[in-house]
Amino acid sequence: SFQSAIPVEQIRYNEQGLVPAIVQDYLDGTVLMMAWMNRESLQKTLETGQTWFWSRSRSELWHKGATSGHVQQVQSIRYDCDSDALLVTVKQIGDIACHTGERSCFHQVEGTIQAPPADTLSQVYTVICDRRDHPNLESYTCKLLAGGDNKILKKIGEESAEVVMAFKDDDKEAIANEVADLLYHTLVALAAHQVDIKAVYRRLQDRRR
Ligand code: AMP
Ligand code: ZN
Ligand code: ZN
Ligand code: ZN
Repeated sequence: SFQSAIPVEQIRYNEQGLVPAIVQDYLDGTVLMMAWMNRESLQKTLETGQTWFWSRSRSELWHKGATSGHVQQVQSIRYDCDSDALLVTVKQIGDIACHTGERSCFHQVEGTIQAPPADTLSQVYTVICDRRDHPNLESYTCKLLAGGDNKILKKIGEESAEVVMAFKDDDKEAIANEVADLLYHTLVALAAHQVDIKAVYRRLQDRRR
């Protein structure tokens, strides 16, 4: 279960006794939501390993996910330099943090609609899945996907060989290019086989211990 030495009394709460808590996906870094905590909700968060906030509109403690089921399992809590803001990383159950059904509360963007910033592999994977689900004729990704395993797996084999050659040559620019190619084609294969990039991240996290 979640262990933390975060000193509840050391946090600087505002005049209303509240501190803003930014909630972030522990795997890909997506900012999921912001809500307020008071001493009691922070205490409950530490005790239960799930997030608790203070609802200003309802003036009550709020266990995130109590009605929706979209609870958040806390992975880490940190506080900023002057102790007046919290950053909480979570496993978001259901992968939905917002009460609108969106993954992140920060889904309203000036201009185009796009996922909030996360790590680059996740972003590229999201775009590839979008191409898979909404094919268009110009897209290289769509052509690859249309070629099926034959085409995609052949590319992974070729790019792997190019990666090996680039490392052998110790050609730093070629290494970056070829590793990017290999990662991209691997993401296409993941999308084609309906394996979420987060499943891969979970394995990598598991192996850190
Ligand atoms: P939940 O905690 O997910 O069971 O949702 C219960 C209620 O909390 C919702 O009806 C909203 O009023 C509120 N709520 C849930 N998620 C959020 C969020 N990310 N930001 C603000 N309010 C929320
Ligand atoms: Zn601060
Ligand atoms: Zn929201
Ligand atoms: Zn290549």
